Amino acid sequence: MIQRRKTRQIQVGWVKVGGSAPVVVQSMTSTKTHKVEETLQQIKRLWEAGCELIRVAVPHEEDVIALPDIVRNSPMPVIADIHFAPSYAFRSMEAGVHGIRINPGNIGKEEIVREIVEEAKRKGVAIRIGVNSGSLEKDLLEKYGHPCAQALFESAIRWSEKFEKWGFYNFKVSIKGSDVMENIKANLLFAKETDVPLHIGITEAGMGTKGIVKSSVGIGILLYLGIGDTVRVSLTDDPVVEVEVAYAILQSLGIRRRGVEIVACPTCGRIEVDLPKIVKEVEEKLKGIEKPIKVAVMGCVVNAIGEAREADVGLACGRGFGWIFKKGKPVRRVEEEEMVQALLEEVLGHDGEGKV
Ligand code: SF4
Repeated sequence: MIQRRKTRQIQVGWVKVGGSAPVVVQSMTSTKTHKVEETLQQIKRLWEAGCELIRVAVPHEEDVIALPDIVRNSPMPVIADIHFAPSYAFRSMEAGVHGIRINPGNIGKEEIVREIVEEAKRKGVAIRIGVNSGSLEKDLLEKYGHPCAQALFESAIRWSEKFEKWGFYNFKVSIKGSDVMENIKANLLFAKETDVPLHIGITEAGMGTKGIVKSSVGIGILLYLGIGDTVRVSLTDDPVVEVEVAYAILQSLGIRRRGVEIVACPTCGRIEVDLPKIVKEVEEKLKGIEKPIKVAVMGCVVNAIGEAREADVGLACGRGFGWIFKKGKPVRRVEEEEMVQALLEEVLGHDGEGKV
């Protein structure tokens, strides 16, 4: 059982982060924020995939102007991502966003950061302090020569202490470097010192398998150590994939379950059916189910009985036929052509909502 680090709880709109709240899954839109329809459509897809907080980039005037519409129509709290332009932080809060993300290192003078904090306090807006290797303060870069874990940690502690000194506690911190080991070290140093909730992720993880592995290793290790109150997987991909990967990481550590978890055998020479095709079809058909259900699809009887016993519903394939298991008990013998349909019936029930 993973012991989560004890953190204070903060509130981003109606979503709680930290304390006893579940690890929150968040993502960021990849659309131009000012293209309101496109952005809202992506937000809707992310919401359906299980995203709970959404961040939108606010690099230009037209993006600020679009914010009230986006906030009004978003099913989840909206966080404005602000860099270099403090005036957009004020105007985003005016537009009704529930949170803002700033990297104090690129906002400018400390007085300006403080003014943003005071305004967030007045408006009940949460702040994420972003500490990234790419936007570290000059003095820390001079002190350490490069953006190492210690420098990232010092920057994060420095700003957290300032925020608290200014009487503001509704904030979380993210410490992100693209180097997995530095990232883990910096988060560990910070976690030992404070009870500030942490947003975790590996920035610029990249594309495809490499990006997913890098994120899974970095985020997975931190979560295993009990660190992380909200997660964003950053991939050069459709953000919906980020949400799916985030849930897969949380699920594999037993932290959160959402949707159908498919256990499938890797296949070998004993196989008698086209298992990849069956798994793909089952996965596709069960995509929208939110209920946490474990489904095992096994190529032959060797491991099927054991796996099927552990799963809610299992399919053990033989030559030209298969057995459907439910909660460890065989319930139906099915011919090859009806395997998928029969499995789906057992998982979904008649209402299609998941009857297990
Ligand atoms: Fe091979 Fe059967 Fe194991 Fe699948 S379940 S990998 S087919 S032995």
